[in-house]
Amino acid sequence: MTNLEQVKEEVCEIGRRIYSKGFAAAHDGNISYRIDENRVLCTPTQICKGFMRPEDLCIVDMDGNQVSGQRKRTSEVRQHITILKQRSDVNAVVHCHPPYATAFSIAREAIPEHVLPEVDLVLGAVPIAPYAIPGGQAFADAVLPFIQTGDIVVQASHGTVSVGESVEKAYWLTEKLDAYCQTLLIARSLGRVVYFNKQEVEELNALKTQLGLDQRAGQDSQSLEARHAAGVEHRAFTPPRF
Ligand SMILES: [Zn+2]
Repeated sequence: MTNLEQVKEEVCEIGRRIYSKGFAAAHDGNISYRIDENRVLCTPTQICKGFMRPEDLCIVDMDGNQVSGQRKRTSEVRQHITILKQRSDVNAVVHCHPPYATAFSIAREAIPEHVLPEVDLVLGAVPIAPYAIPGGQAFADAVLPFIQTGDIVVQASHGTVSVGESVEKAYWLTEKLDAYCQTLLIARSLGRVVYFNKQEVEELNALKTQLGLDQRAGQDSQSLEARHAAGVEHRAFTPPRF
């Protein structure tokens, strides 16, 4: 049984974090949490995520109809519900516009692997899903093939969508990805990016298995390349292919 008040506090706390990190300017971004099989807690439209109070949050049914809350639900709740219906193992969806990860999506630059060990272990390959105009079912559907097989995706020319068992776990993936994308850009400005060699990658894969880390956070890079319908390529960053 979900403690509704506790979950509302958690959504507000993650809202504060995405705003203070610069991941959601003005009233950008939205957060949702499945409170039971028929109801989803979500953020309202036109609210700064950094200053939400528990009473500002809305509850919708699995068709997106608002069932409680004074404020109007976010128009992006359709995407959250589409994901929650597909992924019975996750409860939370966090969507925001972290600038470094979003910049990769605008440049259609594939996010490279094999640069930092913790990123390979926790995130793996992070896909960039095709662009779709926000708000409609096409927008919701664009990320589905990627979120069915991974826990985080960047939507082209838009932002990130990450999922998790809790709101905080979903958020962590976004924070980790954006810090990684920022570090990549700083390293590249210095002139060189060193990638792991085949042996180092194999050692990391073995460690990932040994630690029992969720293989799902990221995706298999080979199948990802095959599905990169968003016009995404490695141009600025050229990781080795094994
Ligand atoms: Zn957005």
